[in-house]
Amino acid sequence: MSERDLMAGWSVELLHDDFRQCLREATLLYDSETAIQRLRVFRNPTFGRILTLDNVVQVTEGDEFVYHEMMSHVPIFSHGAARSVLIVGGGDGGMAREVLRHKGVERVVMVEIDPGVIEFSKRYLPGIGGGAFDDPRLEVVIADGADYMKADGERFDVIIVDSTDPIGPGVTLFTDSFYGHAKRRLTPEGVLVTQNGVPFMQPGELTNTLRAFKALFRDWGCYLATIPTYVGGPMAMGWGTDGPARDASLETLKTRYAEAGFETRYYTPEVHKAAFALPGYVARLRP
Ligand code: SAM
Repeated sequence: MSERDLMAGWSVELLHDDFRQCLREATLLYDSETAIQRLRVFRNPTFGRILTLDNVVQVTEGDEFVYHEMMSHVPIFSHGAARSVLIVGGGDGGMAREVLRHKGVERVVMVEIDPGVIEFSKRYLPGIGGGAFDDPRLEVVIADGADYMKADGERFDVIIVDSTDPIGPGVTLFTDSFYGHAKRRLTPEGVLVTQNGVPFMQPGELTNTLRAFKALFRDWGCYLATIPTYVGGPMAMGWGTDGPARDASLETLKTRYAEAGFETRYYTPEVHKAAFALPGYVARLRP
């Protein structure tokens, strides 16, 4: 049986040189090129509907809650008084959905380079975005996040870079220049968090980001969460701020979480604090 026959009916992720992730395609729902990247949506018996961009898993119905909860609630509960949030990327709507659960957040701007991701996520993955795209607090801007950040404009209490990996259109979101502009677009005690890959598989990506954060922020580092379809171990989320956000005590986080009044499936105040405890192999990636 040829490799092609063997892999028929499977989505094969080629993100890593020596490691492939194969996900059964029980039903292919969409497969086409947008103007920017190849967009596929298929159903897998274990993970539900899955969105891939250029054959790299972006989001699955089954495990997206881990990633979206940890990338949104950790900076927002740490900050304690976030009113404005910028999401770079995030076209599937999951990050906006979680951010908008915070009633104190008055404005969310999503800067997404590919309108096709938004359009097809609304159509094929409506559960990921929930009602986010109908929330009047959300403004969607179709642009390269790097261009948006470079421009003069409003500042944000929290900036979440919910991008693809540093390939294709995502490359511009992993540069020192981008991080420098992001810092300028933060309020004085604002928090920047970034999707920074799986350090066991992409160690250089994390070190490069943290080297830039070390030069930019008083408090810099990363925290971890394990998302099953981001294969290779726990994923790192870059963290940078000049404010006291990370100092929020467990008791303070518990109070803020209780006052927020919503349920989560992965995030808890205890998980929040523990996420910053790094195993040796990750800690040693810090510059
Ligand atoms: N959770 C995923 C992850 O951790 O890899 C990210 C999912 S989200 C769909 C990634 C989004 O980033 C995509 O919609 C993609 O179009 C967008 N994106 C990539 N490069 C971008 C850029 N330079 N500016 C704005 N959005 C970008």
